[in-house]
Amino acid sequence: MNEYLIPVTISCTLITLSYIALKLRNRILGSMNEMVVVPLYTGIASLLMILLPITNEPAVTDLRHIPILMAGLQLGLPVALLSTLPPAAFILLIDGVRGVPDLLVGIALPAFISALMHRKEYRSGFERLRLGDGVKIIALLFLVKIALGFFTLPVPWPEYLQLNAYLFVISLLCLVVLVALHNDENKNWLLQRQLELEANQDRLTGLPNIRSFLEIAGNMLKKRQISILMIDIDNFKNFNDTLGHLQGDHLLRETGHLLRGTIGEKDYIARYGGEEFIVMCDSVDSRRLASLASRLCHAVAAYPFAGREIQPGQAISISIGISIAARPEDDLYRLIAEADKALYTSKRSGKNRFTFYESSTSATS
Ligand code: GH3
Ligand code: MG
Ligand code: MG
Repeated sequence: MNEYLIPVTISCTLITLSYIALKLRNRILGSMNEMVVVPLYTGIASLLMILLPITNEPAVTDLRHIPILMAGLQLGLPVALLSTLPPAAFILLIDGVRGVPDLLVGIALPAFISALMHRKEYRSGFERLRLGDGVKIIALLFLVKIALGFFTLPVPWPEYLQLNAYLFVISLLCLVVLVALHNDENKNWLLQRQLELEANQDRLTGLPNIRSFLEIAGNMLKKRQISILMIDIDNFKNFNDTLGHLQGDHLLRETGHLLRGTIGEKDYIARYGGEEFIVMCDSVDSRRLASLASRLCHAVAAYPFAGREIQPGQAISISIGISIAARPEDDLYRLIAEADKALYTSKRSGKNRFTFYESSTSATS
C-alpha cells in the first residue's frame, strides 16, 4: 500500500470503531456495565491500533493513545485506567519488562492527561465535548512525550521530533473527527430523549400524562397489587367561567404541583385530563390509603390559591375515588373505572371528600 494511505486507512478503522461504539452505547449500555464494556471495547480498539502501526521507520508509531484518550475525556480516570489493561497486558506479554516505558508513555500517560480535562457533564451526555479540551490533551501529551524523549531517545533527536510532529498532526485530525462524531450522535440522542419526555409529559402541568401512567401502572400491576386514586377538582367550571381559562390553567398547574408534593415517594401521579388527576399507590392498606386521601384533600383545601374566594366555601377542594386491586394482575382499566365510580359517589355526597369503591361509603376528609 502507498505509505501515505496507511495513516488514512488506520484512522478510518479507528473512526469506524468509534462510530460502532457510539451506536451501541445508546442501545446496550447501562451505567452498570460502563466499568466493564467501555474499558473492554476501548482497550481492544487501542490494542488493534498497536497491531496497525502507521510507521515502522525510524521507530514504531501508532494511534494506541487515541481510544484511551477519548474514554478519559468523556468518562474520567477510572474508565481510562481500566481501558489501559488490554493493551498493557498485550505489551507485557510480547515485550516483558522491556515494554514498561512504552506502556507508561503510550498508554498510561494518555489516560492520566485526558482525565485531567474530563468534566462530569460529559459523562451524562448532556454536554458537547469541547474540541479545545481534546486539542489541549493532544498538545500536552506530545509535549510530555518530547520532554521524556531527552532521557529515552529511541532514534536521533531530529528524527524523533519529526516523527512526533507527524503523529501529532494525525492524532489531531483523528480527534477532530471523533469529537465531531460524538457530538453529532449526542445531539440525536438528546433529541430522542426530549421527544420521549414530551410524549410522556402533560404540557400544562409538567406531570406525566395518562399515556405514561397507563404504561407504568400496567407494568407495576403485573408484579404487585396497587391502588388507584382518581382526583377531580370541585366546581372547576365555576372557577374557569368566573376568572377565565388562563387563571384556570394556573390553578391546574398549582394543584398538580401540590398533589405531587403531597403523595408518597413510591406513589406516581399523572394528569388524567381536564381537571382530573390519577395516582397509583403501592399500598393496598385501606387505612394508609384513607390517610393519604385525607392528606390530599386537606392540603388542597388549606392552600392559599389565588382566586379561591370565588369558590363555594371560599376554598379550592378536590374529591377522590379509590379502588384497590384485589389481586396482582388485576385489570388496570377495571380499577380505573371503579375509582371513577367511587369519585362520583364523593361528588354526590357533597364533594371535598374521598370514597372507597368497595364500600361505596364516603368519608369527609
Ligand atoms: P365537579 O365539581 O362536579 O367536578 O364540577 P366541575 O365544574 O369541576 O366539572 P365540569 O366537568 O363541569 O367542568 C370541568 C371544566 O374543566 C370544563 C372545562 O372547560 C374545564 N377544563 C378542562 N380542561 C381544561 C384545561 O386544560 N384548562 C382549563 N382552564 N380548563 C379546562
Ligand atoms: Mg371532571
Ligand atoms: Mg371537577
